[in-house]
Amino acid sequence: MILRTCALACALGAVLALTTAAADAQTRCPGNPDALGTERVLAVDPAATPRVGRKHFPQTLPLAPKEVVLTFDDGPEARATPRILDALQRECVRASFFLLGRSALAHKDLARRELAEGHTVAYHTFAHPLLDRMPIAAAEAEIDRGFAAVDKALYGEAGPTPATPFFRFPGFASSPALLDRLEKRGIVVFGADLWAGDWIRMTPEHELKLVLSRIEQTRGGIVLFHDTKSQTAAMLPAFLRALKSGGYRVVHVVSARQQAGLATARSWRTEGGVSSPSHFELIMQNASD
Ligand SMILES: [Zn+2]
Repeated sequence: MILRTCALACALGAVLALTTAAADAQTRCPGNPDALGTERVLAVDPAATPRVGRKHFPQTLPLAPKEVVLTFDDGPEARATPRILDALQRECVRASFFLLGRSALAHKDLARRELAEGHTVAYHTFAHPLLDRMPIAAAEAEIDRGFAAVDKALYGEAGPTPATPFFRFPGFASSPALLDRLEKRGIVVFGADLWAGDWIRMTPEHELKLVLSRIEQTRGGIVLFHDTKSQTAAMLPAFLRALKSGGYRVVHVVSARQQAGLATARSWRTEGGVSSPSHFELIMQNASD
């Protein structure tokens, strides 16, 4: 009788444990219990890391081996960006988008969708000129025009400083004077640790192979893609699955200033043990900066 009771209790316990695990997975990523997910949120402080990405700078983000930060430049674009957002959403992965001001104004709905789905939305100038070839005042005006256009698209109005202090130079064409100016303004300049080179036309299969081989060489890091490229949109679902099967973990970068503001507001929710701001809180925080 004792044995029988134990057998029944143990079986019930096992069923309960399985049900709880399945429920946890559902909570982490509804509809996709095997999702790649977002491992943790990293608050980036301009004072500690004013520029990141080993392709062009000596320093990168403080990432553990096999941690990756996914970044997408040049969008939003009407066809590729929605496919990329769908792929990220399916895997509950949060990324960072570096928008062109003119594209954000042309596709406000997509810019706002990026923000609403929890991604970090940052800046990449207004019209993508190579800034190292311009007089510094004109280059800085172009950067500011990009800040203002993206914030107007996202929030309806732009403040005196960008809502998220993250910027990436078009073509990585920085200059020491501009880097210095941005550092003084407390804006983190993002480079990259690796890329597939998706500005070169290639098949999605080739791009996937290339980016996976490079990510293996660097053991993770900041990955650069373009959400204007259909070949990248086509390979992204398989890329995210390959990260999962390869034991890579996604890190979502946010501004330290935004995170501090939210922490004091004590309005956090928990996702799979990692605290992160809700979309609405991010929008409100950005809007009030
Ligand atoms: Zn670009």
